[in-house]
Amino acid sequence: MLVRSLTLMYHAVSDGWNDPLAVRTADFRRQLASLVARGYRGASAADVLARPGDRRLLHVTFDDAYASVTNAIGPMRELRIHSTIFVCTDFADEGRRLEIPELGRVADRDELRTLSWDELRELVRDELVEVGSHTKSHAHLPELSDAELDAELRQSREAIEDHLGARAPFLAYPFGEEDERVRRAAERAGYAGAFAAPGASFRTGPYRLPRTGLWRDEPPERQRTKTRYAVRIAAELNYPLRRYLKRRREG
Ligand SMILES: [Zn+2]
Repeated sequence: MLVRSLTLMYHAVSDGWNDPLAVRTADFRRQLASLVARGYRGASAADVLARPGDRRLLHVTFDDAYASVTNAIGPMRELRIHSTIFVCTDFADEGRRLEIPELGRVADRDELRTLSWDELRELVRDELVEVGSHTKSHAHLPELSDAELDAELRQSREAIEDHLGARAPFLAYPFGEEDERVRRAAERAGYAGAFAAPGASFRTGPYRLPRTGLWRDEPPERQRTKTRYAVRIAAELNYPLRRYLKRRREG
């Protein structure tokens, strides 16, 4: 399955957190507006799965459900962009800080606060916003036993459905870590699809939906290149771009 639509991967949207994970609100707005100007239009995760060949679809995802994601809502509503917020459900009872050593350095611990169930419930009242699973605890899925893996996947999906009263058919793998066993477990746990991390996007499928990551302080020129159709498809085919473009020119 070749996925021609564009799904962006973000984490935090914060002016004050000086970390690659946290794009500034104005930059976020400019990135989406420039894609819309290039002909992309907002689509849900279900649309991306149903019509992978539609190269004009744009979906936005946020991993970890940082509280600052609320800064993204205004620009997305204005541009009619659909998004999925991937939440670690063990943290959402109190909107606990996502303090995970592997996720790196942090200047201000408040930036790690995550969205609580009440806040998520408020956000999904907007039809453009959906919530997906990022597992219960941000686990390293390939390292878990079958039983632990099943609990992380199944219980997080059920928690979202219980708390928000909405289905949660999509998953994003923590750290982007997945393998054949993890993908099969995701399917068994009731997910319709799962998003991979940038760089793991070749050999795509419903349980390995590709994403393009945009980071703080990346030059806009580089972001334009990364989101270009030919560049994305060449990456997905794991194919040198120059050869791909030559082949396309030659028909
Ligand atoms: Zn994460």
